[in-house]
Amino acid sequence: MGECPFCQIANKKLPSRVKFENQDYIAFEDINPKALTHILIIPKKHYGSVASLSVTDAAMVGNLVLLAQGIARDLGIDKSGYRLVFNSGNDAGTEVDHLHMHLLGGSRLNEIN
Ligand code: AMP
Ligand code: ZN
Repeated sequence: MGECPFCQIANKKLPSRVKFENQDYIAFEDINPKALTHILIIPKKHYGSVASLSVTDAAMVGNLVLLAQGIARDLGIDKSGYRLVFNSGNDAGTEVDHLHMHLLGGSRLNEIN
């Protein structure tokens, strides 16, 4: 089985519009944006959905939130506000099986469900 699409983005086999990158994480624009600003923040290492995480992954997940805070500030949407989303499983419409956090903002968002 080949690498998943986000592993390919992490190792630059697939192009993306990178907004932030360090050794362990990369953030890039969503290819099909659902808000004016729509960024995906991922660990470079492959993890499945939230449902497959365990307590040893707590720091990694916390880092995603803190990275989002900094990226929102860099993009100038920290004051206007933003939403962080993890989808997990069919009912959430999950498309990509590599842990990712959506950062949405830049305009007034619809209410959640
Ligand atoms: P989810 O429904 O949480 O699995 O979201 C997956 C997201 O990844 C969707 O919003 C897609 O538009 C986005 N996506 C899929 N492939 C790519 C890609 N190659 N580059 C950027 N975003 C992508
Ligand atoms: Zn992957």
